[in-house]
Amino acid sequence: MTFTWTPHRFSGGALALDVANTIILRMDPLERRDRFEDPVKLATFVPAAQVFCAERDLAVRLAPVRPDNGRRFLQLREAIDAYFRNRTLGHDSRDDLATLLEAIADNLRHGNDQAGLETATALSALRLCGEPAPERMKICAKCGWLFLDRSKNRSRMWCDMAVCGNRVKASRHYQRKRKETDP
Ligand SMILES: [Zn+2]
Repeated sequence: MTFTWTPHRFSGGALALDVANTIILRMDPLERRDRFEDPVKLATFVPAAQVFCAERDLAVRLAPVRPDNGRRFLQLREAIDAYFRNRTLGHDSRDDLATLLEAIADNLRHGNDQAGLETATALSALRLCGEPAPERMKICAKCGWLFLDRSKNRSRMWCDMAVCGNRVKASRHYQRKRKETDP
């Protein structure tokens, strides 16, 4: 099956979250997929983020990760997910935060310039650490992605209503129909 970076894959609302969400179904050991295992997908993430990522100021001039920074960048991705996921679940761990700040510093120190994906992701994560309304960060009830809820009444449950919201609705509809036809 051909793969493309669609707007849905940039539902996080911040570059750091879109990067963390490049692991699909992270919590499911059987279904989990790491999109960045494929170097082509890592490379094509950059031009797609330039178009679709909500954090425009960081995304517009984005450049690829420097080849010798690959491991460092993936460590940052894991630290972003670990800290913010646990914080969203109510466990604001100083250890996780320290690991994240170290990964941010490491990527800022070794990134080639301001526009490198590793540098921009580090800056995005730093912004999220200081975000005045941390309760806006949520975990999609369907797929487990992290996202920022920018809706007025802060009632978003899904990373993307058109994808995860509809899947939940369709499955509820199916369950209802089954009950009706098979009492
Ligand atoms: Zn989702």
